Amino acid sequence: MLRENHAIYSSQGHGWHLDRAKFDRFVAQQAAARGVAIFTGAAVDDVGRTEDGWTLRISGGTRLQARSIADATGRAAFLARRLGASVVSRDPLMGFARFFPAEDKSDPRTLIEAVPDGWWYTATLTGERRVATFMTDPDIARAQRLDRESGWREALSQTSFIKAIVPASPSIDGLVRPSGSAYLEEPSGDGWIAVGDAACAHDPLSGQGITRALRSGILASFAIADFLSKGSPTGLARYRRLVRHGWSGYLSARRRYYAEERRWPDRPFWQKRIRPDS
Ligand SMILES: Cc1cc2nc3c(=O)[nH]c(=O)nc-3n(C[C@H](O)[C@H](O)[C@H](O)COP(=O)(O)OP(=O)(O)OC[C@H]3O[C@@H](n4cnc5c(N)ncnc54)[C@H](O)[C@@H]3O)c2cc1C
Repeated sequence: MLRENHAIYSSQGHGWHLDRAKFDRFVAQQAAARGVAIFTGAAVDDVGRTEDGWTLRISGGTRLQARSIADATGRAAFLARRLGASVVSRDPLMGFARFFPAEDKSDPRTLIEAVPDGWWYTATLTGERRVATFMTDPDIARAQRLDRESGWREALSQTSFIKAIVPASPSIDGLVRPSGSAYLEEPSGDGWIAVGDAACAHDPLSGQGITRALRSGILASFAIADFLSKGSPTGLARYRRLVRHGWSGYLSARRRYYAEERRWPDRPFWQKRIRPDS
């Protein structure tokens, strides 16, 4: 059965299809206008302690000094891992995405469909493309050869609704993305803090990764301000508590959402996600 959720009935307003590159450029411009130095196309490749803070080396060899650092490197959690923090993975969900020229560029819908071994979604993207992604676990993906277009197409043919929307023409691009739930055991430490996916990465079913990342960035800014202006670690500790609290609320919501699907109680994909310890 297909159920439609019109934005007009949502108390939280309508959803967004975000042009991520444009949005990132906008955020960078806003920061630059407020005096932040921006380095584009540069990656941090080393971090070290100094007497009163940190030194960061960015690609090309430039070194930067900082009193505190924020890790916003997404699921890589590059800085936090370098500083010894461990990432705890709750599930190995992977997204097998394929891109097509959008046939109907004005279609604003996101369609989600559950199948015995996972779930699919499709939506039009900016750049006039359609994405269709199969979310499943790596052992299932290996058995179904989802890394190949033929295996992916075979899985697509098992859907009821998504297959009717995805163009029959070969895809123009493909991408495999880790999409499971994972969190940093310690999302902040002495003079450092992790935000966004670096601190907590959410199942895309939640559709909340970006808003949660923005929220954690705002909370982190208060903790950093406390640290820099008062030399107080209290804000960092409070941030840690808020992140942990948000994470446990998220895990219960995730379990509830997956439990709504009751057609395949014997399939490992669904079983794993509704266990009390999931
Ligand atoms: C398949 C899939 C679908 C999703 N769909 C949705 C959705 O519909 N809605 C939603 O809200 N969220 C969605 N998400 C989640 C969302 O994409 C993330 O939560 C969000 O992008 C997190 O933002 P971030 O800035 O923390 O990390 P990212 O967006 O991952 O950004 C991290 C940045 O850090 C850079 N970086 C990495 N290492 C370094 C380094 N060493 N030095 C410098 N820079 C570095 C990366 O290049 C990247 O630009 C989805 C995720 C997946 C995997």
